[in-house]
Amino acid sequence: MIKHVILVVLLYFFGQTAYSQTKHSYRSPLNIPLAISANFGELRPNHFHMGVDFKTNGVEGLTLYAVEDGFISRVKVSPFGYGKVIYIDHPNGVTSVYAHCSAFKGKLDSLVKITQEKEQNFEIEIYFTEKDLPVKKGDAIALSGNTGSSTAPHLHFELRDTKTEDALNPLLYGFEIADHKAPEIRGIKVYSLTNEGYQIPGKAKYFKVTKGQFGYYVGGDLISIPSDFSTLLGGIGFAVEVVDFVDGSTNTCGLYGSALKAEKDTLFCQEIKRVSFDETRYINSHKDYVEYTVNKRKFHKSFKTDENPLDMYSCSQNNGVIPVKPGDTLAIHYAAFDLKGNKSELKFKTAVLAGSPNTTATIFPSWKYLFPDSSYHFQSDQAEFYVNEMTFYEPTLKNLSLKGTFSLGDAKTPIQQAITVKLKSSNKPTSKNYLAVTTAGGRVKPLATSIEGDWLTAESIYLGSFSIKTDTLAPSVTPLNFKETDLITTKKRLTWKVMEYQTLLSDYDLFIDGKWVLLEYEEKSNYVFYDRPSTLTGEHELLLIAKDRCGNVKEWRKKIKFQ
Ligand SMILES: [Zn+2]
Repeated sequence: MIKHVILVVLLYFFGQTAYSQTKHSYRSPLNIPLAISANFGELRPNHFHMGVDFKTNGVEGLTLYAVEDGFISRVKVSPFGYGKVIYIDHPNGVTSVYAHCSAFKGKLDSLVKITQEKEQNFEIEIYFTEKDLPVKKGDAIALSGNTGSSTAPHLHFELRDTKTEDALNPLLYGFEIADHKAPEIRGIKVYSLTNEGYQIPGKAKYFKVTKGQFGYYVGGDLISIPSDFSTLLGGIGFAVEVVDFVDGSTNTCGLYGSALKAEKDTLFCQEIKRVSFDETRYINSHKDYVEYTVNKRKFHKSFKTDENPLDMYSCSQNNGVIPVKPGDTLAIHYAAFDLKGNKSELKFKTAVLAGSPNTTATIFPSWKYLFPDSSYHFQSDQAEFYVNEMTFYEPTLKNLSLKGTFSLGDAKTPIQQAITVKLKSSNKPTSKNYLAVTTAGGRVKPLATSIEGDWLTAESIYLGSFSIKTDTLAPSVTPLNFKETDLITTKKRLTWKVMEYQTLLSDYDLFIDGKWVLLEYEEKSNYVFYDRPSTLTGEHELLLIAKDRCGNVKEWRKKIKFQ
């Protein structure tokens, strides 16, 4: 009897809190109480949030510490993405990542500067071996910042499986965040689906979910859907708009886990513990893409397509596709929970109205649609499109035009991998020509283009319409924190605004008396800056060169006296 009690207690103990009870020896990367503004797995454009965002009191410059013994295996400086970022490999097979830093510390800082000087480039990436830069737990490695695509000061922190580079949910590894708030359910959608989990166009219904005194409810606990939501081969599926919160913060966080039951059967479960970088873009198949991009609503589907490889579905019966007939009524139970076990539930009945089911023999005719499991090559004497297998998430409207105007699909439809676009120019193309795609917002986006004979070729991660453009305009360079007419300055940092109007900035360099010096670049604000060492005084000649992708060059020159 005592043995049984112990077993039950142990099962309870480990079953309920397996992760938080597992011994982890990581220390905090910061010396302030840990608070997050974003958690792991949050829905973002084209990717899940692959780490956690630790708050840094709204300021830059807090010291960052190695969370465990190990060695710095990689460092990168970029005006995009992670900005200044450090990777530390630990003996337990985990890599910790510290992104958006403002500066590096010690030997790493001098190694980065030496490499930038040698390569005459602000943007660098260095890989190190175990012997180069060993670190001890608690060593100061960098200062927190706001570099790269970060829009406010914070530390983006990741843990990765060193071998596979899969991102791991850091909050499962001993980083404690107080959380007594259950996820918040805001809406549900019902979809008519094919057996492969594809959404049947025009057959989805949204229902608002309300929080009452006794929990969440929808309608009068009964929702009705038209009879033609039922199909001969497919069924229906549910998606739920749900966000989460942690204590002491108003930031919305992402959903950790969910389970969907129809009658007594658990049909579909989610638990986001790890995501591979190769698969993170499948978020476009996981979330309701249109709701996310058009209505800013965060719907998690409780069903998936055959092609969706994400590792986060801990149970999936028939891909979450529920077969129904007109006249059926189903009891649905949905639970959303966070990794501290706080839980919200929604119970309701779904009635499929009496009438005829959808009997359309071919829902996606092959002359009209492109399919996930096929590759395609379309060709005319003016244009070519190459599409690999596993490019589309769902059957996608073809909308093909190969003469006069050039288009494939719709810019509003996401794709998993880039397509190859080739257009023939009527005049002999030069380096000033490039291919562009018109995106969903109507913006004309330049594509990295190669030219061979009369043909221009580019990869595009957008569908839509494509055209040949010409760029003969050089970037502009404007002093930002001093005046064009200043002859003398006491400024330690000189900042310029560098604007490229059509393509992208490809090169930016500053020379003082003909010698290259480090010019830092922040892409999000279009500014470049130079930090002058205190030893540099007197009159000097500055030459700032900005070049775009089509080779248009702007040279900004000035003699200035530093004081
Ligand atoms: Zn982040």
